[in-house]
Amino acid sequence: MSPDETCAVCGRTILAGERTRTYISPKGGHPRVVCELCRARAERLGWVDPAAPGANVGRRAEASEPPEGRLERAVARFNASEAARTVAGLMRTLGEPWVSVGAAAGSPNEVRITVAWELTWYQWGVDLGNELRAVFQLDKGHEVGQLDGSARQWNATAAVGGQLILGALAEGRAPDGEPVG
Ligand SMILES: [Zn+2]
Repeated sequence: MSPDETCAVCGRTILAGERTRTYISPKGGHPRVVCELCRARAERLGWVDPAAPGANVGRRAEASEPPEGRLERAVARFNASEAARTVAGLMRTLGEPWVSVGAAAGSPNEVRITVAWELTWYQWGVDLGNELRAVFQLDKGHEVGQLDGSARQWNATAAVGGQLILGALAEGRAPDGEPVG
């Protein structure tokens, strides 16, 4: 414990050896240290103790999930969806695409999947906050240059059947999306 740690509710310096709880605001952000006396106030503010039983429900649990787990869940949803069949069909004529899987800006529960070829690209969204919502198309276009930089972080590949695989960047493909050679 750092010597100048303070309670996020009352601002009091946490004494050496004093018990504290760590809470997460439902609005997200950094975990906040709360002294034992302020637990009730923190809970009235709607802050969540991720270690407490029953706290890991709904969107709050997703906020504390590591990003890799979120992307893997999104890829699994995509691979089971109609969109994977669309990718499979396009691969038959266009070959292997570049694939990017990442968080959508401003939508903490949404993962954006970009699948791009030389002259066409598609973008789908996966809503991790709603398991029942189908994978939906966000956008499509023709030039890879139309995509923003974060959508060109090629961090996945597509296998037969349009099945995306995270973290398997094909060799011989430059990260800027241009084929090498
Ligand atoms: Zn306090």
